[in-house]
Amino acid sequence: MAEGHAEGAGQAGRRAELEANLARVRERIRRAAEAAARDDVPHLIVVTKFHPASDVRLLAGLGVAEVGENRDQEASAKAAELGDLGLTWHFIGQLQTNKAKSVVRYADVVHSVDRAPLAAALGKAAAAQGRSRPLDCLVQVNLAQGAAPGRGGAVPPEVLPLADLIADTPGLRIAGLMAVAPLGEEPAPAFARLAEVAHALRERHPGATMLSAGMSQDLEEAVAAGATHLRIGTDVLGRRRTVR
Ligand SMILES: *Cc1c(COP(=O)(O)O)cnc(C)c1O
Repeated sequence: MAEGHAEGAGQAGRRAELEANLARVRERIRRAAEAAARDDVPHLIVVTKFHPASDVRLLAGLGVAEVGENRDQEASAKAAELGDLGLTWHFIGQLQTNKAKSVVRYADVVHSVDRAPLAAALGKAAAAQGRSRPLDCLVQVNLAQGAAPGRGGAVPPEVLPLADLIADTPGLRIAGLMAVAPLGEEPAPAFARLAEVAHALRERHPGATMLSAGMSQDLEEAVAAGATHLRIGTDVLGRRRTVR
C-alpha cells in the first residue's frame, strides 16, 4: 500500500515536471514560428527513447500526440503497451533492413530511410502487412560537408533518386526529409542546405512536405529554416540515462 502511495506521489511530481517542460518548449516553438513570420506552428514530436512507457502515458495526458523512438525493441514494446492512446509513432533511428518487418507494425512514419535496400525492405514489409494506408517515409539527409555516402543519411545528390524509388514502391509514400545538424558546424547554414534539398524534392513530389529537423539544442534554427516537425527529447523529458 505504502509503495503504491509513493508511486502515485512520484507520478504526480513527474507529471508536473513534464507539464512545465512542455509549456516551455511549446512557447519556444511558438516564438520561433512568430520570429520566422510563419503562420503555421510546427509539430512537436517528443522523443521518448530511454524513458519509460509511464512517461509517454503522462505526456499523452498532457496533450502530446506524436512521439519518436530510435530503437526497434524499445519502440515496439512501448507501442504495444500504449496502443490505447492513439499516438502517432515516429521511428527516427538508424534502421537495419532485418528490422523493417517489425517497425512497419507500429510506426506511422519512418524518418530514417537512407538507402535503397532499406526502402525495398520497408516496402515489402508494408505490402505483406496489408496496411490500409501506405507507410510515410522520409529520406534522411546527411548534412555534414564532404560526407562520404554511407550510414547516417543519404548525401544530397542521392536524395532525389532515393525519393523517386520510395515513390515508386507500393506500400510506401515519400513524405519528406529528415536531418540532424552536423557536429562541428553552426546549425543554421546546415539547415539552409537542407531547405534547398527540400525545395527540390517538393518540385518533384509536391506531397512530400514534411521537413523533420530541430532538436532541443537547435529548434529555433530549424523553425527558421522551415522545419514542419521538431524532434525534442531532453528539453521535455530531462537527460537520458545512456545505460540501463
Ligand atoms: C535523440 C534524438 C533526438 C532528440 O534529441 P534531444 O537533443 O534530446 O532533443 C532527435 N532526433 C534524433 C534522430 C534523435 O536520435
